[in-house]
Amino acid sequence: MIISDKIPVAVLGATGAVGQRFVQLLAQHPWFEIVALAASKRSAGKCYAEASQWVIPGDPPPDLGDMVVRNLDPDIPAKIIFSALPSDVARDIEPAFAKAGYAVCSNAAAYRYEPDVPLIIPELNAEHTAMIPTQQQNRNWPGFIVTSPNCTTTGITMALKPLHDVFNIQQLVVTTMQAISGAGYPGVASLDILDNVIPYIKGEEEKIEQETRQLLGRITNGKREDAKIVISAHANRVPVIDGHTVTMSVKFTHKPSVEEAISVLRDYKGLPVIQELPTAPTHPILVRTEADRPQPRRDRDAQEGMAVTVGRIRECPLLDLRMVSVVHNTLRGAASGAILNAELLTAKGLINTS
Ligand code: NAP
Repeated sequence: MIISDKIPVAVLGATGAVGQRFVQLLAQHPWFEIVALAASKRSAGKCYAEASQWVIPGDPPPDLGDMVVRNLDPDIPAKIIFSALPSDVARDIEPAFAKAGYAVCSNAAAYRYEPDVPLIIPELNAEHTAMIPTQQQNRNWPGFIVTSPNCTTTGITMALKPLHDVFNIQQLVVTTMQAISGAGYPGVASLDILDNVIPYIKGEEEKIEQETRQLLGRITNGKREDAKIVISAHANRVPVIDGHTVTMSVKFTHKPSVEEAISVLRDYKGLPVIQELPTAPTHPILVRTEADRPQPRRDRDAQEGMAVTVGRIRECPLLDLRMVSVVHNTLRGAASGAILNAELLTAKGLINTS
């Protein structure tokens, strides 16, 4: 698809860890152009270079350093709003933008569980955009909100969806080892996380269980029907900077062999329309067969941080199969994932560009 005029976009929460990823990725995007950056009152009025304490690898885009950070009023000359706001702030702000006619692509959890708000990973459930007209009708707003899942859920569901489609998942036990960048900046205190593992992340286990059922669910007549999977999640914070690792044990209706599972995962690409989106990876799922992969430091950047790497696929003596997956939490699990959602909405003609 060729876009003759770039679509103007804005980033809310542009100074944070995920916001910085958005800014870095959008600065060189072929379809979208940043026209505004917004954050809290602490940052509003300052230029972006001064307001954002840069915490991610690579440099801030030089052209945007002088852009003055705005407050969160919905009067921005943009069509698409990327939200990297804390959830409690997003709860009030995102509807104000949808009401004012913007397409909001959110990374926050605030609206992920609403029955009329799609939670999307394009390769898995692009058809969930069918919920958008229902949302607009229910809420009487010309814009809409589309959400991206929690970063950990992304690594889980991308590994499971191809298997669920063919073998039908009934039960899942998942244990996470989540990177510290998942907690934003400054995040977890160094005295808490160095030389340590923290076996609790507030709200995370509930998010994983609920969002996995939503993402693997079906859409009928614009309504989502969650997948009926019994899930037990254990969430842990570990001293890794980027890249969430998860181990999974899975029970299926039709138990696949290890070879069948590998073959289904290797062949999975998603719909052709998705493969043509600028941020889409050639292979959304990479299967590694070495005994000691995937690992966050070695696998998180696969396919520009957009591929989920799956490995250690083997028999499980308790359920059917076990495996490990790694996802880059601030790329596929956050900013790049939301940008791919915006590309999908654009390709489907759901962005009002007039
Ligand atoms: P963060 O580093 O703490 O950044 C938060 C951003 O929101 C900053 O730009 C901050 O602006 C702004 N903000 C904070 N309080 C505000 C207020 N009261 N009013 C207006 N703006 C306010 O957080 P993050 O890690 O980037 O996460 C952002 C969102 O993405 C969260 O909802 C998070 O759950 C979600 N998410 C994060 C990840 C991840 O891996 N980190 C993955 C998926 C989803 P100031 O700089 O001006 O304070």
